[in-house]
Amino acid sequence: MKITDLFLSQDKTFSFEFFPPRDEISAVDFGINIGRLMKLSPSFVTVTYGAGGSTQERTFALVDYLQNRIGLTTVAHYTCVNATRDKVRADLEALSAKGIQNLMLLRGDPPKGETKFAPPAGGFRYASELFEYVEDQFDFCKAGAAYIEKHPEAISLEEDILNLKTKVDAGADFLITQLFFINELYYQFVAMARETGINQRIIPGIIPLTSYAQIERFTKMSAATIPDELRDKIETYKNNPPKMYQAGIDFTISQCKDLLDNGAPGLHFYTLNKSRAAIEIFESL
Ligand code: FAD
Repeated sequence: MKITDLFLSQDKTFSFEFFPPRDEISAVDFGINIGRLMKLSPSFVTVTYGAGGSTQERTFALVDYLQNRIGLTTVAHYTCVNATRDKVRADLEALSAKGIQNLMLLRGDPPKGETKFAPPAGGFRYASELFEYVEDQFDFCKAGAAYIEKHPEAISLEEDILNLKTKVDAGADFLITQLFFINELYYQFVAMARETGINQRIIPGIIPLTSYAQIERFTKMSAATIPDELRDKIETYKNNPPKMYQAGIDFTISQCKDLLDNGAPGLHFYTLNKSRAAIEIFESL
């Protein structure tokens, strides 16, 4: 089923993102966790595409499994790093032949060691060019990425939103945001997007920070602003993992409740292939 059709009957969607397991042990772990998560009846699930297409085979195998063996509405992430038009065509034909109807189309990050994204000859410079091509050649439902604290390469949020509008005009049916912890920034972003004429659903991307290692990693990556309230709690419980876990879950539950109460069209959960936190949060909502 196309997710745009699902929107006709679901005001709010609840979805999970996975990445393809790296080895046999992770695959067993993943099987257990997906079994648990299925009980929550997610609206759809998504599977990431490793940087530079590094997981292409495993991403395609996993979306096939989740869509056709497990019966979940599945979105395949796909980036155009190092991809010519011919490669994109062949890859998307392969996904279409597997019955995949939904794609998350992305430009992707520059390969390791490079700071600037450079498309190959016959490739795409921006995600919007990929959207335009896919819109013209195929019949997929297409999701795009949105950055409420702006994409790192963008000069300003205003400019990034104008570029997002180009992506939407090129065929993005809905948007999923980069993870964030400050709801106010999401509300401001949605208001700015609406003013720019972006009317598609903007589904918030959520991750619970439940360990000290995670918060350190996020701080280093500066991926998203961590509010003082959460940082203080995690600092307090630095040497008490069970309390830290609970503080992270409690924060995410109140973040999700606030988003749903204030009109967010659902929640997209970055599961990191785990199930415990997702189950606790979704059961409390
Ligand atoms: P774009 O929309 O092309 O934007 C990239 C930059 O170019 C932005 O700064 C934008 O403002 C600018 N830009 C866009 N159009 C123009 C224009 N016409 N003129 C000038 N500037 C322009 N990465 C993976 O490798 N695999 C994944 O599975 C994956 N999944 C993701 C899922 C989500 C929900 C999100 C939010 C990100 C994901 N990413 C993934 C990361 C993503 O690939 C990177 O953030 C990448 O750097 C940008 O991809 P994009 O599709 O957002 O690019």
